[in-house]
Formats: sequence, C-alpha cells, structure tokens
Amino acid sequence: MTAINSNKKTMILVTGACGQIGTELVKALREKHGRDKVVATDRHFASDSLQETGPYFKLDVLDKYELENLVCSLGITQIYHLAAVLSASGENNPLATWNLNMESLLNVLEIARQEKLDKVFWPSSIAVFGPSSPRINCPQHTVTEPTTVYGISKNAGEHWCMYYFEKFGLDVRSLRYPGLISYSAKAGGGTTDYAVDIFHQAVAQGEYVCFLREDTLLPMLYMPDAIRATLELMDAPAEQITVRTSYNLAGLSFTPAELAKAIQTELPGFKISYQPDFRQTIADSWPGSINDSEARNHWNWEPAYNLNAMTADMLKHIGPNTS
Ligand code: NAD
Repeated sequence: MTAINSNKKTMILVTGACGQIGTELVKALREKHGRDKVVATDRHFASDSLQETGPYFKLDVLDKYELENLVCSLGITQIYHLAAVLSASGENNPLATWNLNMESLLNVLEIARQEKLDKVFWPSSIAVFGPSSPRINCPQHTVTEPTTVYGISKNAGEHWCMYYFEKFGLDVRSLRYPGLISYSAKAGGGTTDYAVDIFHQAVAQGEYVCFLREDTLLPMLYMPDAIRATLELMDAPAEQITVRTSYNLAGLSFTPAELAKAIQTELPGFKISYQPDFRQTIADSWPGSINDSEARNHWNWEPAYNLNAMTADMLKHIGPNTS
C-alpha cells in the first residue's frame, strides 16, 4: 500500500463512514481539511459519493491488524470512530453488539495510544441514560443505568475514553448524540429512526405508521447541527474540554404528534397512525429532553435548527420537487 501522506500534518481516518453520520461527516471533513486528508473506511465497499470524493478503504474495525496497518501506512493523526450497532438493532443480538461496540473502540483507543495520535472522536448517545435518569432537562452528571445493550456499551465506552485520557493523555473527545435526523442516508437501526423515515413516507405515500406512541417525547438534532457540533468540539482547545466521558448535546425535543403537525403545515394531506412496537420500551427508558449547558459553556455549543426550520429543510431536500 502506498502512503498518501508522509508528513505529520492532519490526516484523518473515519470508521463506519458509509452510515447515516459518516456520509455527512466525511463530506464536511473533506471540505474542511482537503479531500486527500480524510480517509473513509467501512466494512463494505462504499457508495460512489464517498469513493469519488477522496480515499476509501474497506476496513472491518474489529480487525486490529488491518486498522494498525492503515493508521501507520497512511500517517493517520486523528480517528473518527463511528462504526457501531445501534439501539434497536442491538437488541436483536446483544452479545454481538457488545462485541462490536466495545472491541472496536478498544482497538481504536489502543492504536491511538501506541501511535500517539493527536485526537480521537467517538460518539456516545442519550442511550447511556435509563429509567432512573431525570426525564426532563436531563443533566450532564446524573444516574446512568441503561437498559439496552447499546446503552451499556456506550456507558462503558465513555469510561474507557476517560481512562485513556487520564492514564495515557490521549485527547479523546465525545458527544452524547440524541436522535439524528438527516435526508442523505438511511437511519441505521436506532429507536429515533421514525423521525427520519416519516419524511420519506410522507413524501412517497402521504402517510406513515409510527412505531412509537404519539406522545413519546425524545431529544433530537438535525444533522447539520450534529456535524457542526462535532467539528466545533474537535476544534476547541484541549484545556476547554473538561468533560472527558462525553458531552450532553441538545437540539430540539418533540413527540411524533408534534413532528406530524409540523409536516402537515408543509404537506396538508399527510396522515399518521401509531402502532408502537418493542422500540417503545427503549424510548420510554430515555429522557425526553437534555440539559447541555456544559457543552454550551465549555466550547460555545448552540444549535441552529428548531422543529419548523428542520422540517422545511428536510422536505426541501427529499420532497417530490427535489431534482
Ligand atoms: P449507521 O448504522 O448508519 O452506520 C454505522 C456504520 O458502521 C455502517 O456503515 C456499518 O457498515 C459500519 N460498520 C458496522 N460494523 C462495522 C465493522 N465491524 N467495521 C467497520 N464498519 C462497520 O450508524 P450512524 O447512525 O451513522 O451512527 C454512527 C455512530 O454514532 C455510532 O457510534 C452510533 O452509536 C452513534 N450515534 C448515532 C445516533 C443516530 O441517531 N444516528 C445517535 C446517537 C449516537
């Protein structure tokens, strides 16, 4: 394999790059750092857009030798580790979920320690919270007793990140993303996926059967805000990042009924019905809203999109008139 970069300038590797976040994050990182400075990887071959806009390698992140090989041969200085199994999919195979989510993180942290990488980004989730956490305005530091294997893996992962920071000085940074809403890639098997699917079904069918109850309040964030938060966190001076587990991050909180109403203002004929399934139990275990004052105070986080602005933008991009 030929090295793309031989000096020690910023060189980024993204795992799980073909997923809902990776698709957008790789694009943003390439715009910021240059296309050849951002190496996208995933366990399968990429969509055209990822391969055509910069370097792409097939990488199973459980293969630590291949990960090490790529990091060393490409002169990687930062890793954004996105590969994971998400909350709803994770419940189908708990041990495999634990294995992927934990082993992959430990592989990334270890190679980052060994090779003295500059920075690592790893996303946590509101799934670290559980039924015993405050439901409204859930604070940064509170009880975290998750009830899903996904939440357990994120909770443990946060502590591993802090351990590598405190023990080895590794600059690893993390956000507890809420449910992320985006138009360019499919949602990846999470409990908040309804808030993505609803837009596609509203445009294609004019109706949607929601797998959560109409009054299920959950914290969400529009993808442009999530990407900006990630870049801003990674750009902040290290001494300002004093939460070394993972930062609470809030954007907006709404119920399926409130989202349906916002869609109806743009698509008046849209109809929604409700058939809650096993994901209702997961949603009921999570907070409805998040207090992100640490993120706001430490590195000036501020979301830009409210419910109506997000709804209008989503429909503009996936609506029937989109070319
Ligand atoms: P996704 O499911 O859309 O994408 C995950 C990607 O990881 C997929 O492309 C998959 O092929 C890849 N992958 C799986 N196993 C792999 C392996 N062994 N090696 C390499 N790649 C592998 O997930 P996403 O929504 O993009 O989430 C990315 C990260 O953000 C995850 O850590 C997730 O827990 C976290 N997160 C996401 C949300 C959300 O709403 N999307 C919310 C909170 C946290």
